[in-house]
Amino acid sequence: MDAHADALTLRVARVLAPVTVLGPGRRVAVWVQGCALACPGCASRDTWDAAAGTLVPVTALADRLADAVAADGLDGLTLTGGEPTDQAAALTALVVALRERRPGLDVLLFTGRELSAARALAPGLVAASTCVVAGPYRRDRATPGHRLLATANQELRIAPEASGRYEDWLAEPEPPRLQVFAEGDGLYLVGLPAPGDLDRFRRELGERGVELEGVSW
Ligand code: SF4
Repeated sequence: MDAHADALTLRVARVLAPVTVLGPGRRVAVWVQGCALACPGCASRDTWDAAAGTLVPVTALADRLADAVAADGLDGLTLTGGEPTDQAAALTALVVALRERRPGLDVLLFTGRELSAARALAPGLVAASTCVVAGPYRRDRATPGHRLLATANQELRIAPEASGRYEDWLAEPEPPRLQVFAEGDGLYLVGLPAPGDLDRFRRELGERGVELEGVSW
């Protein structure tokens, strides 16, 4: 499979770890670059431009993620964006290559496409994912408090062998919903913000003398 992965590249916005608010356990999360779905209220507008980000060879990324999983004792991979199903071949190869290095690794996929459309566009990626959150962000249907479904129209599909683990995680009382990562010149808010969270974050930083530039929402 690495021969296939060797020939593929993935356009990536960022990779962050350990992420604890996008799936059970401590995870490495990959935000792919490029999304044409343009959901009103999207909190990741910086990932829309399909010509931005960084092109990364899939094999090199699999090596990097496998090293991070081992070094930091991570439990899973979360794929988000951007729209992962737009880069289905590269992401499917990435999951296969990573599982060759870290067998059984949990993979959580967020897609803005309906589950049927995601399956049609990216059958291998959907099938390889332990959990899939599918459907566009609809700000008129926000579900503040749900740890994986940002809006009520979205669909959650969990592989039977992982359902207990996910259900336990989803049922944890009063879990943290957001994390902040500082990476290079960027400050990244990770998780599913409730309506108003992002403006509150910006306002509270402003009150402390920190002005955000290039805000992605
Ligand atoms: S699918 Fe995701 S990244 Fe794309 S516009 Fe919708 S919320 Fe934003």
